[in-house]
Amino acid sequence: MNGPAERRPGTRAVHAGLPPARDGEPFLPGPTFAAPFHLAGPGVPAGYGRYENPTYALYEQALGELEGGAALAFASGMAATSAVLLALLAPGDVLVAPDDAYPGVRRIATEHLEPRGVEVRLVASEMTAIRSALPGADLAWIETPANPGLTVLDIAALAADAHASGARLVVDNTLATPYLQRPLGLGADLVVVSGAKALTGHSDLILGHVAARDAETLAPLLDWRGLHGAIPGPFETWLAHRSLATLGVRVERQQANAQALYELLSGRGDVAADVRWPSMGGVLCFTLASEERAEAFLAACELVADATSFGGVHSSAERRVRWGTDAVAPGFVRFSCGVEDTADLVADVERALEL
Ligand SMILES: *Cc1c(COP(=O)(O)O)cnc(C)c1O
Repeated sequence: MNGPAERRPGTRAVHAGLPPARDGEPFLPGPTFAAPFHLAGPGVPAGYGRYENPTYALYEQALGELEGGAALAFASGMAATSAVLLALLAPGDVLVAPDDAYPGVRRIATEHLEPRGVEVRLVASEMTAIRSALPGADLAWIETPANPGLTVLDIAALAADAHASGARLVVDNTLATPYLQRPLGLGADLVVVSGAKALTGHSDLILGHVAARDAETLAPLLDWRGLHGAIPGPFETWLAHRSLATLGVRVERQQANAQALYELLSGRGDVAADVRWPSMGGVLCFTLASEERAEAFLAACELVADATSFGGVHSSAERRVRWGTDAVAPGFVRFSCGVEDTADLVADVERALEL
């Protein structure tokens, strides 16, 4: 039997964060609901639920095992994002981020960091633009595969360049999840993930986390989380931990569905010109001729929910332009493959495109 460190990601996801087997105990202990805890004596930690909870502790251990480091759970991906940006950047610091980063990242940068004297450099999400913005930077933020454009960046190369410039590299790993990509092992200093997407995968949780190679790097974020109260609820945390076990099977099926749809769409004259799939994960994007055509397509799909977000077990799609936050065409569709049987999903999409 190989040791935990060599196990493959699907195996790690099944066993991550589970306590040692004990007679009569469940595999995953149920959620602990507590504001204060009885204090066990002098010198013990705070004994208050905003600072510690055994349900978070197990979930964070699981996330650490998946990410290859230590992890901190937050109330949402944005709680994790804002902790990194607001706790780690001080006046006079410089942030580099892609101009198509998650809209919340751009808003924190321009509405909260810039006014307090942080220089914000928003650049195109491609290697040359990011590299040339790095000199003098303190923190470089990237998202890869980026979303909704689905461009892919070389994490190892950017980590090396960021470090040479004295900057830390943060990777938003929401789309790939630690099942498909482990940025810490490629040299990234911090990883941020929205647990609402493929990580937990059932479209019923809002949760997030930050991971780093060691707990010391996370110390200012732990302090921030306790101070600002950006903690997840124990029940959500427990549900998320329960959901991790199926991460591998969910992502494998989503990815197989995405590949099949990519092949279908690439062969069609009406969409082939702009079909994007980064050969990773369950999200693909394509552009139909007009808003009307895209709306008709979405309405005609029977298995595909008209919804934002991605990474859930139910296939979903949306016309991304409706948010007004991305520079995309009116007929641009972001399509998130669920875990339906591939043949059914392909047939549904093919039929909807014919109408
Ligand atoms: C959804 C998302 C976030 C924000 O996460 P929430 O859990 O909704 O707060 C951040 N980054 C990416 C790439 C996302 O898709």
